Amino acid sequence: MLPQLYTGPGALRGRVYHRSMDRATEILRRVFGYSEFRGQQAEIVEHVCSGGDALVLMPTGGGKSLCYQVPALVRPGTGVVVSPLISLMQNQVDALHQAGVRARMLNSACTPEERDQTVRELLAGRLDLLYVAPERLTSQGMLDLLSRVQVSLFAIDEAHCVSQWGHDFRPEYLRLRVLAERWPAVPRVALTATATVETREEICSRLGLERARVFVSSFDRPNISYRIESRTSVGRQLAAFLSEHRGEAGIVYCPTRAEVDRRCADLTAAGIEALPYHAGLSDAVRAGHQRRFLMEEGVVMVATVAFGMGIDKPDVRFVAHTAMPQSVESYYQETGRAGRDGAPAVAWMVYGLQDVVQQRLRIARSDGDEAFRRASTRHLEAMLALCETAGCRRANLLAYFGERYVGPDGAVGVCGNCDTCLHPPETMDATVPAQKFLSTVARLDRERGQRFGAAQSVDILLGANTARIRRWGHERLTTFGIGRELSRPVWLALARHLLAAGALQVDADYGGLSLTPVGWEILRGDREVTLRRDIRQSASDRASRPRRAVEDLPQQDRALFEALREWRSATASEAGIPAYMVFSDATLREIASARPPDAAALGTVSGVGVVKLERYGPAVLERVRAAAAAEGSPATPPSTPS
Ligand code: ADP
Ligand code: ZN
Repeated sequence: MLPQLYTGPGALRGRVYHRSMDRATEILRRVFGYSEFRGQQAEIVEHVCSGGDALVLMPTGGGKSLCYQVPALVRPGTGVVVSPLISLMQNQVDALHQAGVRARMLNSACTPEERDQTVRELLAGRLDLLYVAPERLTSQGMLDLLSRVQVSLFAIDEAHCVSQWGHDFRPEYLRLRVLAERWPAVPRVALTATATVETREEICSRLGLERARVFVSSFDRPNISYRIESRTSVGRQLAAFLSEHRGEAGIVYCPTRAEVDRRCADLTAAGIEALPYHAGLSDAVRAGHQRRFLMEEGVVMVATVAFGMGIDKPDVRFVAHTAMPQSVESYYQETGRAGRDGAPAVAWMVYGLQDVVQQRLRIARSDGDEAFRRASTRHLEAMLALCETAGCRRANLLAYFGERYVGPDGAVGVCGNCDTCLHPPETMDATVPAQKFLSTVARLDRERGQRFGAAQSVDILLGANTARIRRWGHERLTTFGIGRELSRPVWLALARHLLAAGALQVDADYGGLSLTPVGWEILRGDREVTLRRDIRQSASDRASRPRRAVEDLPQQDRALFEALREWRSATASEAGIPAYMVFSDATLREIASARPPDAAALGTVSGVGVVKLERYGPAVLERVRAAAAAEGSPATPPSTPS
């Protein structure tokens, strides 16, 4: 079998290799309009073209699709792509049609006529790519149909859906093993943006890909800027953050449906184009909102995590979290929906003590067994460490996936594009305040047999005169009023930090706090506590503020860029496709600055393939000429040297 024969990139050098790679590069240029492969794409394409199986682990926006689309066009026959969601298939098929590729899909959304036509084209060998839902692909009828045609490759997209422990588990994916048995000579490519080693191993064993070559790209998303702040007032903080992103598409993740509705109403009142998305809305409403988010520009989706897979929109400029996700893996997946197109994007989050308490309670009260609780606790602690770190967020995030991060300046663990790198936080020795706090908690627990949440201990330390203090006689505790040197927010941050560090635990019953062995060590003076002083970043902090796409352009190109965007909007809505499918922002930007005088020059712009050139070239060139005329300087004439 081919995968066994394959012994490395040099093995196939020779005529066959050259021919298929030449062809692959030609297809990349002619069909997709790109001048070269990116990252590991070339190696993967070469491997699959020569018949090898592959497991491709690449972050969102890394360019996974080309890894099977190009080989499917190089190899004879039809490439069969398994995809879990109809919206994902539709998206890919639409984008391929824009590039002139003969792609179709078979799923429950197709009418019988469409299905018949697709089958006819398939049997006639007139399809380059066929997208199929997993349950349909593994049906007897479909397997028999496919045995009558030539299959160039099988691509299994979102391959982590085979993982029983993941959040996207699809039982139908388990049946895909049958492909290896029935088509041992057809290459199979499994692709995912999920980074953990456990998931990788599960994918290989469950899909029968033990002999596949594994391609692991760096999971770094350099264009995403990470920012994590202490939550003081979500409404105000979110408003300040969004004021930096007017007119841009983004996602705001909230922990509950009620919060989604509340935030969405606030944003709408503030004149922001915001739409809600959660499991409490009907399928039709959800689909409608998702569609508007995809098709229109500048829509903000306010959502629970129900809004997830299938958001293939490349120009999402920010992902905001109003509370902390349950794990670093979830945080990575959710924030990863920003900036697929490679342009600057922001992952912003606020979190607070309440998140830590809530999540500890969730774990303590869950029905899961001991192993499940231990795993959940580990996940939570890694997430907290990311939030509380005084070091580089990116380095911390990538370390979680086993990657050692080296920054652009060659410095280990300094990215220059996260809040802590841009504004290194001051730290303070908080051992004594920690002892005061822990001693209050311990006294309540040991002397009085009472457990309270963090707020009560903070009130005691601050010497507050509240009804709850008087009712329980807490003004008589020896720690009453001994913490007036710090403000309430600092005490709450300290409580959060102690919970994060495992010095405190939360009761499963009432959510009261008590000390852990680590807490006792701190209290006895056997352990020190360092706390990051929270830097309060103002919204107008320009140093950390990514510029908007249009601000990135030199002044003289902006008018043309805007004119092209307007033309794109109109063209896309007429064709019923999202704007980015016509041309990406990056392509429009390049056109605005290169000002191609004729079709030949336009064809060299990245993202302009032959079909798009033919379809949109005249309109685009007209805009370029109009801009030149408006400025009074003719565009570079095609033949006369300037
Ligand atoms: P993924 O599926 O890994 O999230 P996509 O396949 O959707 O990523 O690609 C992300 C974006 O990068 C798309 O807009 C795609 O057209 C673009 N892209 C992919 N490969 C290249 C390349 N070699 N050159 C330029 N752009 C590319
Ligand atoms: Zn950093």
